[in-house]
Amino acid sequence: MTFKVSSKIADYIWINGEFVTKDTALVHAATHSLHYSGAVFEGQRAYNGEVFKLIQHTERLIESAKSMHISISYSVQEINEATKQVLLKNNLQNAYVRPLIWRGPESITLFSKDLSSNLLVFATDSNPPFENGLNINIGQWRKPNPNSMPPQSKSSAHYAMGIVSQDLAISSGYDDSLLLDFEDNIAECTTTNIFFGKDYTLITPIADRFLNGITRKTVIEIASNMGLKVIEKRLKIEDIIEFDICFQTGTSVEIKGIASIDIGSRKLYYPNISVIEQLQQTFAKTIGKKI
Ligand code: PMP
Repeated sequence: MTFKVSSKIADYIWINGEFVTKDTALVHAATHSLHYSGAVFEGQRAYNGEVFKLIQHTERLIESAKSMHISISYSVQEINEATKQVLLKNNLQNAYVRPLIWRGPESITLFSKDLSSNLLVFATDSNPPFENGLNINIGQWRKPNPNSMPPQSKSSAHYAMGIVSQDLAISSGYDDSLLLDFEDNIAECTTTNIFFGKDYTLITPIADRFLNGITRKTVIEIASNMGLKVIEKRLKIEDIIEFDICFQTGTSVEIKGIASIDIGSRKLYYPNISVIEQLQQTFAKTIGKKI
């Protein structure tokens, strides 16, 4: 049995302490996390051979595992070391890095103490240029009530409706979707946080019902240092009409300008990209990204 493996993934994958080539890095058909979800993962970026905010990412990975009741036998230091080894072994300087913790194939019952906990880390060679001009819509699926899933857990269980939302958005001609929460407040995009702005003020939804991204926190810091006022508050669709700046933040996209949001009854336009470009320049300097 062979699978077509993404050509982007670098040659060597670290699994449970060993390097295997990507074509032989297979998991068993009875893998618990494949059937019942609940794996946890991170998305990180390395710039010039170093993962940005590696400790925060690894700590979040461990917290995510705890929230899914997955026990892990690796310390933060050991996971960080595995991550560094993946970059070295694959000779990568600028990369997207993916650690993942999952339950093994030892049982097919919903929960069993026999289930193993496993860790892998792989990377892709990646240093994309900054991009702007996204056209998005409002997704039809809501972010769940925080009492139905721990919102700060980066568990694969959270991503099921994100995948469906991306498919719906792209097949309708949009680049992504803005998702609302269970009370119709603006939440985030499928894999990124969102900011709005006007003049020298940025406004972003309070991140207590969805992932409080590491990039979101970095951008709030950078924007405040640049003299911008940053406000965190609940926003409804009618509140985002007055802004002329809009962008996404996330490890994968870094900072990405949104040009328009289709809210159903009309399209809202966000033509002002000068603040976004300034944020991108300062972000690049902070993280050591070559542009
Ligand atoms: N929200 C979701 C749902 C995400 O998957 C991500 C990517 N991890 C983010 C926000 C942004 O988080 P970060 O800046 O930590 O990458």
